[in-house]
Order: sequence, then structure tokens, then C-alpha cells
Amino acid sequence: MYRVLKFGGTSVANATNMSRVLDIVEAESRKGRVILVSSAIAGCTDALLQGDAAALADLQERHRDIVQRLFTGVERRSMLERVAALFMEIRRAPAEEVVTFGEILSTTILCAKLEVEGYRTQWLDSRKLVVKDNEPLTFSNIAREVEPSLADIFVAPGFICGTRDGRVSTLGRGGSDYSAALYAAAVHAESLQIWTDVPGIMTANPKQVPGARTVPRMSYASALDMASHGAKVLYAPTVAPAMAAGIDIEIRNTFAPDGKYTVIGAEPDASRWIGVTSQGDRVRLVGTAKGEEGIPTATEALREAGIAALDMQADGGSLDLTVRPAVLETCLKALHRAFFQTRPLQEVNLLVAGEGAVAQAFFQMVRQTAGTVQQRTGKVLRIVGRADSRRFGMDPGGQPQLNREGDYVDAILSEGTRGALFVDLTDSETLYKRYPDLLQAGLGIVSSNRRSFAVPYTEYAAIQAAARENGAVLRYETTVGAALPVLESIARGANSCDEVLSIEAVVSCTLNQILGDYRPGGASFASLVRKAQAAGLTEEDPRMDLGGKDALRKLLILAREAGVALEESRVEVDSVVPEALFQGSVEDFYQGLEAAEEELAQAAREAESKGFRRRYVASLEKAGDAYRAHIGIREVPPVHPAYYLRGTENAIVIRSAFHPYPLVIQGPGEGAREAASSILNDILR
Ligand code: ADP
Ligand code: ASP
Ligand code: MG
Repeated sequence: MYRVLKFGGTSVANATNMSRVLDIVEAESRKGRVILVSSAIAGCTDALLQGDAAALADLQERHRDIVQRLFTGVERRSMLERVAALFMEIRRAPAEEVVTFGEILSTTILCAKLEVEGYRTQWLDSRKLVVKDNEPLTFSNIAREVEPSLADIFVAPGFICGTRDGRVSTLGRGGSDYSAALYAAAVHAESLQIWTDVPGIMTANPKQVPGARTVPRMSYASALDMASHGAKVLYAPTVAPAMAAGIDIEIRNTFAPDGKYTVIGAEPDASRWIGVTSQGDRVRLVGTAKGEEGIPTATEALREAGIAALDMQADGGSLDLTVRPAVLETCLKALHRAFFQTRPLQEVNLLVAGEGAVAQAFFQMVRQTAGTVQQRTGKVLRIVGRADSRRFGMDPGGQPQLNREGDYVDAILSEGTRGALFVDLTDSETLYKRYPDLLQAGLGIVSSNRRSFAVPYTEYAAIQAAARENGAVLRYETTVGAALPVLESIARGANSCDEVLSIEAVVSCTLNQILGDYRPGGASFASLVRKAQAAGLTEEDPRMDLGGKDALRKLLILAREAGVALEESRVEVDSVVPEALFQGSVEDFYQGLEAAEEELAQAAREAESKGFRRRYVASLEKAGDAYRAHIGIREVPPVHPAYYLRGTENAIVIRSAFHPYPLVIQGPGEGAREAASSILNDILR
């Protein structure tokens, strides 16, 4: 049985590529007799057509170089002589015959190399065997030559042929594919393989449309349609002889022999639209049913791309368009996107808990960005549940109202919402206790609630285990630094065993603002706290922030993300204001703070005199085998990243074993919109 393998110009462009070709041929020859059909080396046919002395000299050098690299010793000398002799012939040949030498050169080299490797080879003179416009005669010539031969591998030049009256001719540009089909049909080959520089026939020319993908199977009719309308990957006349002989055509990639490829055969096409091709300013969307059905999608795709077709008409199952040459590539890309890159949309159902500022910002963001999100990620977000602390509502249609009383999580669990995401936008101290139930029921969790992750370590670990064991999503990037990618960065290091040496987190927005604004002699510390509270920057009781509770939670989350099982009791916390002020009402606190003004001013003056700034820093530091965790005011010098923080900015400085310099993450660490954006990104991740 015969196997016919054709290699194009790029596949044999140089010695390295030829070696790949020889590997492929040798592997195939183990399965049967091989007829290797080759093009001229890349650019050769063009150079021969040009025919001037410089082009020929350059071409001769390229062939000499290939010989130098593929052969050694006597063989090298003899091959160099043959190449020189062929170039002498070229220079003496009648002008119309010059172009036929490219394939003679490449196949002479390939055949000799196979012979050196020990194969029984036979070079076939396509000028005598292939008769132009006479397939029956061609078939009998080939069969008569090949069948009685003892060779294992035949090597035949593609492209060239003879005429009935004995002249040398060609089969047309790109004709080597056709040569291969003629050889295959003549010997009833079991396999016809066209090896080229792309992985098969693709949904578009990948040089014009980078998103093009391989069409795994194609009918002869569609391949012919693509090939006749600009898909140069296959020379159109190749299809008929293969089809008549019932031989499949494989289009394969020399540079990825085990990768994707196309099989062209008698089976009907699997898909409605096959690919998009172009020839000059004519674009064709090749299809298999009614071409006119593509008009609305095509029109809309072009409109979105800001172009219009000068003409659009169905032609059988296909659709033909004419566009201005300047917008040809834009048109191909737009049509390709609309017809071949549509992936099914993925619905993401969200069960939101919380109706506060972050939740409102989140609902608004989902409404505003739905279109963009869908376009960018293929995901459709649907809010199917909402809840405040007393009521909840669920609606699979995406319009939940707060119209039910009772336990939201119980309702979620009993109403079976597998695959949905539970989005915790509350400040609840207890909701985390339900996380494991939700995760076990197959829901994912995205949370902005830092209380949930600052719980005793055993409970934290139980939540993580429930997520892991159920393969459920559990993300809470928003809990530290709002939209800043802090936890993700720490986790990346931890995943790659980069040990954290220290974390310094300047993450209290309230205190960053207050300490940044405070100038001894200016507005009092107490008045700045009042201002921050009025601006909604503090918790209801501002002492929560000033006492370091919020920073403590963030530090626990950061440390745990880095793999340190930190407990609250192990963190030393220095309050910003005198401890005594933590007793009594908020009003008592403010009065006490006014009284402590001088003490606070003194500390600020001291730092200033040294050229330092006061920052509220939560830190974790490796000391021997253990970690030391501390929260309090620190005086930072100008070289410290936190020195220049503005307003409510956050800075997180992470030092690790892999790097001499720290990773610094700095930016907006506060705000409902930032939190909403972070939640949205955790959902989309
Ligand atoms: P060879 O020299 O191997 O015969 P060709 O240059 O004749 O190679 O054909 C391969 C080229 O065809 C590819 O490099 C690609 O740019 C072009 N091409 C055009 N349309 C398509 C398509 N639909 N699928 C794959 N390749 C295509
Ligand atoms: N070498 C010829 C050409 O460049 C034939 C081929 O490569 O198929 O057109
Ligand atoms: Mg070709």
C-alpha cells in the first residue's frame, strides 16, 4: 500500500526543515511504500521566475548551504557537483523552462539524503509521468513506473509536468498539491497527506485572523469551495482526483506533526459555517446550507466593526461580500468573530447577602457592566437572591424582592441552588458559621466580610477545608485593601513555596487619613476623628478603628494567607489613643481625646523633628522559627513605601525569601465602589 506525502516550500526551506521532513517520511515509511512529493524550497519559484543573475546566485548559495549541512565526505562533494551542474543547466535553459528547476533541485537533495540513510529510493521524473490535462494517461504512466519498482521511497518533484507534445510545463502556482493527488490517485494510495506550515485548513487564514482555528473534518465540497476562493493552503484542482479515487486528504503541519490537522473526505460537514476566505477585495463566508441566512449576522458584525459591505450576496450555501481593500482584514476579523468565535454564554447565579453601601455599589456595578462583562468573559451575571438582616427573597429570573422572613441560608440550602455563588457583603459576626454548609452544598462563596476570616484559627481552617474538599470557590480578596490584589499576591508566593519573611500592612484607611492630615497646632486629633466619622470612614464606634480591631482582622487574614496560623491572642496591639478612653460612651471618648491632645501633638512633633512620618502599621515578622505580630504607630523614614501615602491609600510591603527587595502593593484601599469592583472580580475569576 502507498502513502503519498507532499511537503510545501516552507517545509523544505532549509536543512533544519528538511530534516524534519525526513523524520516524518521515515516514520511513515514503516507503514507502507511512500511517495514523497516536494515543492521547491521557499521563495525558489519566485526567484526563478525573476531569473536575474543575482537571484540565481543567491538561490544557488541556499542550495549549497543545505547540501553542506545535510551531507558529509564524498556524498557532500558529489552533491555539491550536482547542484552546480543543475544551476549550469538552469542558466542555459530556455526561459520558459527555468521555473521547473526548483522542484528538481529540492527533490534531488531529498532523494540523495534518503539514499545515504539506507533506503531504497527512486526519483520519479514528473516531467515525463505527469501529463498536463490528461489524468488517465498520467495515472497509467505513474502506475507503470512505480508498481514494478523495488524502491521503498519514491521522490517526485511537484508542480512540474510535461505536455502531450513533449514539452516541459507546470501545473500552475501552488500546483504541487495537485501533483500529490495525481500520484495518490494513480496508485490508489491509502493515505494522501499535504504537509504545510499551518495546522490544517483553518476557519480563516491565521496570518490575517489570529483567532483562526483548525477545522478537524471537512467535506470535499467545502474544501474545494475554500480553496477556490482564496484559501491558499490547498490548491483547488487537488480535490477532484482525490475525491474520484475516494482518498481522504489530510492537511498537516510539518512544524507540529502531532498537533491538530484537517481530514477532507466524503462525509458531510459537521458545522453550518466552515470558514471565511478572501481573494483581493472579495470575501467569502463558506457555508453548507442557505447562504442568505448569514446576512443579518454578517451585517451586524460589520456594523459593530464600523465598516459596510459594498455588496453582499448569497451564493448557494455561502455568502459573498465585497469590501474596500483598506478594511479587508477588519472585515475578516469581524466576520470570524461573529461566525466562529461564539462560545456558549456561562450563567453565574449570585445569592447576595447584605444591603449596605457595598451591596448597593455592587448591584449598580452589575447593572452597568453586564454588557461589557458578557463580551469580555462570556459570563452572564444574574442576581437570584438578596437579603438584609431580617428579610430575604429569591427569584431564578433575576428579580428577587425582600419579601420573605426566616433564614436565608436555610432557604438556599433547601431550594437547591448548586453551582451558584453566595456573596457575603454583610458585616455579620456569625454568618461565617454557615459557610461550611454552603460549601458542602456545592455553592461557592465570595465575601467582603473580614469578620468571617478573622475568627479563631480552627474555624478558619474548617471553612478552607470545606471549600477544598468540595472543590468550591472561596474568595475574599476584598477583605484587605479593597480592590488591591493583596491576598492573591501572597497566595502566589505561598503556592510556589516562597517563604514570607515579613508583611507590613498600612491598611487602616481611617488612621492613614487622620495621621496624614494631623498637624500639631492645627485641627485637633479629636476633630479629625469626628470628621472621619462624619465622612463614613470609621465604624459606628470610631474606637474600633483607633483601637486597632480592624487592622487586627486584616493582619490575621494576611498572615493566614501566607500560611501562618496566627491567632488574635498572639498579636501585640498598641492603641493610638490612651487605653482609658475605651471605657464609657463615644461622647466620653471624644472629650477624653481632646484632653489627650497635647500628648498626641508631642508625639507628632517628635517624629517630624526626625524627618519621619507617623503611620499605623500592622506587621508580621519572622523571628527565628516563629512569627511576631504587632500593631501600632510606627515612625517611618522617607525611604519607606508608607511615607508617601495619601488620603485613604493603603500600602502592603511583603518581603520574602526569594527576593532581596520587597513586593509593594499600594493604592486605593477603601470605598464602596472599590469593594464592589473587587467582589465582581472575585466572581469573574
Ligand atoms: P505550502 O508552501 O506548504 O504549499 P502555502 O503557502 O501554499 O503552503 O499554503 C499555506 C498557507 O496558506 C498558510 O501559511 C496560510 O497563511 C495560508 N492560508 C490561507 N487561508 C488559510 C486557511 N483557511 N487555513 C489555513 N491556512 C490558510
Ligand atoms: N513551487 C511552486 C509554487 O511556488 C509550487 C508549489 O509550491 O506548490 O507555486
Ligand atoms: Mg501551497
